[in-house]
Amino acid sequence: MSFELRDRDLMGRIGRLKTRRGVVETPAFMPVVNPVKQSIPPRRMLEEFGCEIVITNSYIIMKNFGDEPGLDVHRLIDYDGVVMTDSGAYQLLVYGEVETNPEEIIRFQQGIGSDIAVILDIPTGWDEPRERVEYTVQETLRRAREALPLIEGDDTLWVGPVQGGAHLDLVERSAREIGAMPFQVHALGSPTEVMENYQFSVLVDMIMAAKLNLPPDRPLHLFGAGHPMMFSLAVALGCDLFDSAAYALYAKAGRYMTPLGTLKLKDLSHLPCGCPVCSGTSAQELKESIKGERERLLAEHNLWVTMAEMRRVKQAITEGTLWDLVEARSRAHPAMASGLKRLQSYRKEIEERSPGYKGRGVFIFSHDSTARPEVTRHVRRLRGSHSPSESGKALLLARAPSWRPFSKSDEFQGLKEALDESLGEAVDRLQISFFSAPYGVVPLELTETYPLSQTEIADPLDWETMELTAELTVSYVEESGFQEVLLLVGEGDLDYTVRERFEEFGEETEKGIHILSAEGPWKKETRGRIVAALKRVLEV
Ligand SMILES: [Zn+2]
Repeated sequence: MSFELRDRDLMGRIGRLKTRRGVVETPAFMPVVNPVKQSIPPRRMLEEFGCEIVITNSYIIMKNFGDEPGLDVHRLIDYDGVVMTDSGAYQLLVYGEVETNPEEIIRFQQGIGSDIAVILDIPTGWDEPRERVEYTVQETLRRAREALPLIEGDDTLWVGPVQGGAHLDLVERSAREIGAMPFQVHALGSPTEVMENYQFSVLVDMIMAAKLNLPPDRPLHLFGAGHPMMFSLAVALGCDLFDSAAYALYAKAGRYMTPLGTLKLKDLSHLPCGCPVCSGTSAQELKESIKGERERLLAEHNLWVTMAEMRRVKQAITEGTLWDLVEARSRAHPAMASGLKRLQSYRKEIEERSPGYKGRGVFIFSHDSTARPEVTRHVRRLRGSHSPSESGKALLLARAPSWRPFSKSDEFQGLKEALDESLGEAVDRLQISFFSAPYGVVPLELTETYPLSQTEIADPLDWETMELTAELTVSYVEESGFQEVLLLVGEGDLDYTVRERFEEFGEETEKGIHILSAEGPWKKETRGRIVAALKRVLEV
């Protein structure tokens, strides 16, 4: 196996991609190196910036240096790390045609010693009619099939590209079929325009359509993705490799990258970065430096922040805080926030593929956070935990006390003592659970376990989080075997929302739904009323 997984968080992973040149730790960003002219020498990229892998274009190399005998890509660009070569498909996308054929470009990449190489696929592009998109998918698959005998047994890692653009059914088909062929790496084509147009919700759909249909043990490369702002989102969805020339192209246009978006150098009064470039100069000096120098310094800064963000993403995977990073980055731009919202519709798929316990606190900032796998997992497990013994029991469903774990709070302990004293043996026929945002129902027995005891939520709750909590709470009771339920609510907004839903539910169901509303549900004065209500419910 050329790809080995070391750690995971959400669908993101830290892996080791073994190439014949050496091992690359993923997720990894590879700067695009122009074989003819470089703004930062590739040797410096490796030694100073820590770029273990770069990508260059075999088609441009063939056009410019193809006649040189014994041509070696590492020597040509003076770089000792891992070199991936693209095939010319990008030039095809931009210029409409290339003067090579699939077999020639495969042989050429083998000849120059590419460590990772791409077949000559047909990029889908953007805004193309469906027939054209279908053609790009079919033709790429046909070429992939024809490439197999040429690359069999090769020590280069070969990339099988996935096409289909925003036509998700075609992306799925493309991924399924190419995933069945023996490629070592896959790549998702044509997201560049989607990213340039800031359509991050479309990007989420495209990545998921590809990811869910490819073999999970192969790395996925996102072609042309190089803005640090979107690394955490794409990694969270399972992308492992990224490449882009943005660091240099943006520099040419006087644009200064940050993990929270792009700024124009001319608008900067301060440099909000601690990289070697920004530590050694001021915004004023940078603006006033001569054009070539300014462009070089900007390219270096852009590459520094790009590499730093990738390290931040890896650290987040290791410590289990990738979701928090995705949420933080979603504040960079409303379109990024749309991407995060789109992620909600994949909460089930993400939960199924996320590792379990990492022991980190679960932070709920807003409704967006409720798509976290910890929440989805709790709800799923609770659903599967209903037992036949419930039907003989009554349920006390109480607004969660303010203190975590709920079971250890003074408020709850006081009530517990009162119940033990007054209900006698009937207390065994009582299940106590809490309702709490965003999980819905939390049985007493689970309050001290992860993630319930380690969840922090921002108050006051937003409307959607309250609706979700009420929905989860009602559907739990509906699916459970409990025939008699006493709902204990206070007077907060969440209490009102839950109460309203239970009033509606009580009219539709055969179950006995009793509601006890108190100004202070956990106050000492309320205990007598709770005990009395429970005595009626349990017929004591
Ligand atoms: Zn900087």
